[in-house]
Amino acid sequence: MAPPLDPLLETVAQRIIAAADELTALDSAIGDADHGLNMKRGFEAVLAEKQAILAKPLGEALKTIGMTLVMKVGGASGPLYGTLFMTLGKELPEDPSPADMARALAAAVAALKARGKADFNNKTMLDVLGPVADHLASGGASLASVRALAAARAEATVPMKAIRGRASFLGDRSVGHMDPGARSSQIMIEAICDVLEGKA
Ligand code: ADP
Ligand code: MG
Repeated sequence: MAPPLDPLLETVAQRIIAAADELTALDSAIGDADHGLNMKRGFEAVLAEKQAILAKPLGEALKTIGMTLVMKVGGASGPLYGTLFMTLGKELPEDPSPADMARALAAAVAALKARGKADFNNKTMLDVLGPVADHLASGGASLASVRALAAARAEATVPMKAIRGRASFLGDRSVGHMDPGARSSQIMIEAICDVLEGKA
């Protein structure tokens, strides 16, 4: 049976809102210091609509989350996270199996790559989302392995030089800092793992 959307949505949103200062600090090092604020605004808007979202079938609920993020987050990350959730909404059946989730996340990563004209190792959120999608598709994933991989991949953006997004304007000076979008993706994945494991 698919996990209930309510605690997943609530925990993801609360964790992102709680991490606003940390995400903004990361973005102040290699961007324009707004990622935390952008994401907080987006997920507060999602929470404000939560009851209406939960009343919808899963696909429509995820599309609504995606559209709200596009409208409220802004910046580069709004359309990208919007694409992520809208693609999940398009791809997932009403009661998804683990295989459905792996396939939908792979489709969302492909859509995100196309939307941002970015690839792996460009120092973006894709460096967390892509490897997690591949790991799920491998069939051998556990909640612990997904959580550990997301953390390791966010950390792995530190030595990368940014090729996409605002941080790329810094060239070599982008090296030595974690990518804010990689960290926000990690926070979301960790929140989902915690809910599924009964830790949140
Ligand atoms: P902005 O850069 O417009 O201020 P945010 O600060 O909200 O937007 O988001 C920055 C994050 O967006 C980056 O840390 C990176 O992870 C992600 N990002 C930026 N451009 C791209 C892209 N082309 N493809 C994938 N992710 C990107
Ligand atoms: Mg920014």
